[in-house]
Order: sequence, then structure tokens, then C-alpha cells
Amino acid sequence: MSYRNFPMVPRVVFGRGCFNQLNEIISPKRKSKNAPFIFIVDDVFRGNDGLINRIPLHHNDKIIYLSAAEEPKTIYVDKLGEEIKVEFDELPSGIIGIGGGTMLDYAKAVALILTNPGSSADYQGWDLVKNQGIYHVGIPTLSGTGAEVSRTTVLTGPERKLGMNSDYTPFDQVVLDPELTKDAPRNQWFYTGMDCYIHCIESLTGTYLNAFSQSYGEKALDLCREVYLEKETRDEDADDKLMMASWHGGMSIAYSQVGVAHAMSYGLSYLLGTKHGVGNCIVFDQLSEFYPEGVAEFKKMVEKHQIDIPKGICKNLSDKEFDIMIDVSLGLVPLWENALGKDWQKTITREKLRSLYQLM
Ligand code: ZN
Repeated sequence: MSYRNFPMVPRVVFGRGCFNQLNEIISPKRKSKNAPFIFIVDDVFRGNDGLINRIPLHHNDKIIYLSAAEEPKTIYVDKLGEEIKVEFDELPSGIIGIGGGTMLDYAKAVALILTNPGSSADYQGWDLVKNQGIYHVGIPTLSGTGAEVSRTTVLTGPERKLGMNSDYTPFDQVVLDPELTKDAPRNQWFYTGMDCYIHCIESLTGTYLNAFSQSYGEKALDLCREVYLEKETRDEDADDKLMMASWHGGMSIAYSQVGVAHAMSYGLSYLLGTKHGVGNCIVFDQLSEFYPEGVAEFKKMVEKHQIDIPKGICKNLSDKEFDIMIDVSLGLVPLWENALGKDWQKTITREKLRSLYQLM
């Protein structure tokens, strides 16, 4: 038995308004006047002076706005890497992602593709990245994905939806400023927070569970319950706690694995482009037989916050399309093994997955 020796984010700052320290945090990392900091920012913040004016731009630093409407794709990562190399004489001093999980994943992937040859699709998998990336910083404006702490950057490529999992992937610096999450629309706040809740349930009920994952997972689960069930309103304290729930949930799955909801949600996302948070909610809603208590509690949270979980998204799919989703899902072997043990293939057949997808 060999245990994974995994890297953690070496530097993190937490607190309301700590975004204002960004200049002093990154300045020492500037390599030269010609080596810019590139800020990858969710385009919902375009024109939001309260945030954009506080981004510390000097010399040839640049903001690149990207849409989070779709999950991150290898072709966009490759294109961004090319454009940055063409525009600047020197490699950037740093890549800073500001946004939800999509922007954080783009920042990680671009930092890696700038120093590794070929396409990001070549590095989808485990430990395929050869060279250290550019210094990269993650600044979440939505809480729940755990992307700020994870060792992966999940990308949809020509052949698969799979992360670039490597020791070089985690951020060098994370800035956790809960104030940045306060304007997240209610549905987004819910779907993304439920990603964290589902990380906890999948980790805590999985066969890969160990004391390391359990300690983080239990704390994250308590925080999710406080935010989504016990509190009357979404206040500053709730935003602070959800940000730490996301961090702990990410730490929990870092040393265990996710499960059935993620395995099936990747299929939806690959075929239909369903965003990760809402996709997990659509799937989890139908998983009572695997996670009876978790799903019952999830339904209470949906009810309390009066959230609509989209229905009928698989209703007009062809046999071929179901097969594509089933192939993607069945390919995620460690997730199934964590959820159901070594003999998972006895219960999880193509017919079983199809019958579950048909409910969604
Ligand atoms: Zn997730």
C-alpha cells in the first residue's frame, strides 16, 4: 500500500476585505516590467467598479474577461495560452483567477499550459504534467466547488471530461474574501453550495473514507447545515462559513474521492454542457437509493430556499446520446469504486444508469 503524498496550497489569506491586500501579496512575484500579471475574471464583473477598480494593474498587466456560461474547455485553454505567448515578449509573472470554479480552473490550466508543450488535452489525467506552471493565484467569488484547494482543474476536452491532476496544479496563493461572494444570485449560491454538500456526503459515505477526509468532511457538512438549514437568512456570517465549508469539503475529497452524483453529473455535463453545480443537484435529487439520508436533507434545503431543480433535461435524448453519457460516467472508475466498493459493476450496469438518467 502506498499513500498519496499530496501538495497543499502554501499560502492563504482569509477575511472580509482582504482582496485589498492583493497588490502587496503579488508584487514580490513580479519577474520584470515586461512580465505581466494576467487576471482571468468572470465577465459578470465587467463594469462592476467596486471589484474591477480594486484589481492592482501596473505596467502591461492585463484583465481577460471570460464567460462562465460553459464549463472550461481544453480548446479555450490552448487558445488563451497561445494568445498570451503572442502578445507578450516574456512569460507572465502570474495568472490570477477571479470568479467561481470555472475561472479558478481556467487560471490553473492556463498557468500550466504556458510552461508545458502541446495541448491541455494531452494532460487530462493523473500526473501527466511535466513542468511547474506559472505562479497562480485563486480568488473565489462563489463558495462550494473546492476548486480553490484542489489538485485538479477539470476540463472538457475532445474526448473526455477529466481534470489535469498534478502536483503542479494547486494554487500558489489563495485569497479568501467572503465579501466577494455577497452578490452571487440565489440559484448560483445554492447550486454551488450544494456542490460542497455533495462532496461531503460522497466522501463521508465512501469506501475510501479515512480519518483525514472524515475530519474535514464532518466540519464542512456541519457548516453547510448551518448555512442552508439552521440560519433564517443568508447573512455575512453565512457567507464566511460557506467559504470555509468549501475549503474543508475540498480538503476532504482531496484524500478520498467523490461518488455517484459526480460520476453521473460528468455525463450530463459532457453531453449537454450542464454546469457542474446544477448538474450535481439534478443528479443527486434522484439518488435516494444510494444516499438516503443525504438526499432527504438535500430536499429539505431545496424546499427551504425554494430553488427550482431543472427537470426533464434527458427527456428527448436518443439512444446514442444516452450511450455517450453512460460511457463518460462508467469511465470514472475511482468514483464508482469509492461509492460502492470493488464490486460496483454488479449494481451499476448500463441499463441501471440509463434508467436513472431517464428520471432527470
Ligand atoms: Zn464537485
